[in-house]
Amino acid sequence: MGKVLIIGAGGVGTVAAFKVAQNSDVFTDIMIASRTRSKCDAIVKAIGNPNIKTAQVDADSVQDLVALFNDFKPEIVINVALPYQDLTIMEACLQCGVNYLDTANYEPKDEAHFEYSWQWAYHDRFKEAGLTAILGCGFDPGVSGVYTAYAAKHHFDEIHYLDIVDCNAGNHHKAFATNFNPEINIREITQKGRYYEDGKWIETGALEIHKPLTYPNVGPRESYLLFHEELESLTKNFPTIKRARFWMTFGQEYLTHLRVIQNIGMARIDEIDYNGQKIVPLQFLKAVLPNPQDLGENYEGETSIGCRIRGVKDGKERTYYVYNNCSHQEAYKETGMQGVSYTTGVPAMIGAMMFMKGLWRKPGVWNVEQFDPDPFMEQLNKQGLPWHEVFDGDLEL
Ligand code: NDP
Repeated sequence: MGKVLIIGAGGVGTVAAFKVAQNSDVFTDIMIASRTRSKCDAIVKAIGNPNIKTAQVDADSVQDLVALFNDFKPEIVINVALPYQDLTIMEACLQCGVNYLDTANYEPKDEAHFEYSWQWAYHDRFKEAGLTAILGCGFDPGVSGVYTAYAAKHHFDEIHYLDIVDCNAGNHHKAFATNFNPEINIREITQKGRYYEDGKWIETGALEIHKPLTYPNVGPRESYLLFHEELESLTKNFPTIKRARFWMTFGQEYLTHLRVIQNIGMARIDEIDYNGQKIVPLQFLKAVLPNPQDLGENYEGETSIGCRIRGVKDGKERTYYVYNNCSHQEAYKETGMQGVSYTTGVPAMIGAMMFMKGLWRKPGVWNVEQFDPDPFMEQLNKQGLPWHEVFDGDLEL
């Protein structure tokens, strides 16, 4: 059906490439491009399909991207590099007439702050160019938005309370490691918490609010309230929502390491002078931490991510919980990557498939919940992320 360009050759890029290659009826021509070409070549070798092309690209440079796009002429770019590259890639898409999909919203390098305004500002330009941009199409953001749209379409007249619950009950047997890019991950979870209630955003201390929540097949896990980017788009796109929150589990060992990292200044994102050389402590820390791509082999356990929703249907209050559990070992057996990369890369491929099939194709910049959730939900079941539903259970929240 069409040509796809994957930018980024990390854990998520690897899974996206495996899944794109598995769906060769939809993706007829594939290229993987990243800063380090040898990493793209290694993915092609692991997949075992020599027809997949690779290229080196600096995705911070619009000029570099434009040259690559004009050469390969993709229909859609799956951006699974880092959030810093979102705007340059969107800019190059506009210049070359290419559609766009990502899994994380833009974040400036010098400020640990993420919001959609920068990317939503591209809406009119994408619309005028007749191009589709699909934002936040990983698991959360991504499947969390599709689940919410599916609940709104089939099970509720009005959604009132939304809690997105993200549990990683896996064990990678390392003292400390992050499950995706350490720099982006540590920037995210050391920020102040925030949730939406009655039209306002309420700020909390970092990881200040927490409680045990029970996850299917896992049991109770301490869960911490964080701000997460899909809260911004979901409260805008579903205005009946009175309260929206995001919860993520962390183990004590992880939190202790995180506290030390912050206390000794290793989470700093400003430049410091080290022996006459400028370095950013958090970037240096990334260089010495385990690479999330290498965690898969000894990773046990599973992730459990879902939406717990309370609202009204036919005049009656009801609750609904929709979730997926993903085994780290199963993900590793299929793609060589752990479950967090898997749960992000699979939806990224499905989003691109929705575009290729013409099911999610409308000019402008959109969040996933603004498209029809049904064909995406159907593919989740087929592509390795089956979902389950609980009606009128105790949401604990
Ligand atoms: P990695 O750090 O493993 O991979 C990032 C890749 O992008 C690397 O291959 C890196 O190259 C490449 N890259 C970085 N900068 C550039 C650049 N300027 N030009 C070209 N390539 C570049 O990250 P992950 O795979 O763990 O995560 C990828 C994305 O997925 C991130 O944006 C992350 O926030 C998002 N994510 C989303 C989730 C969701 O559920 N929505 C969950 C988890 C992650 P090199 O190898 O040379 O460093």
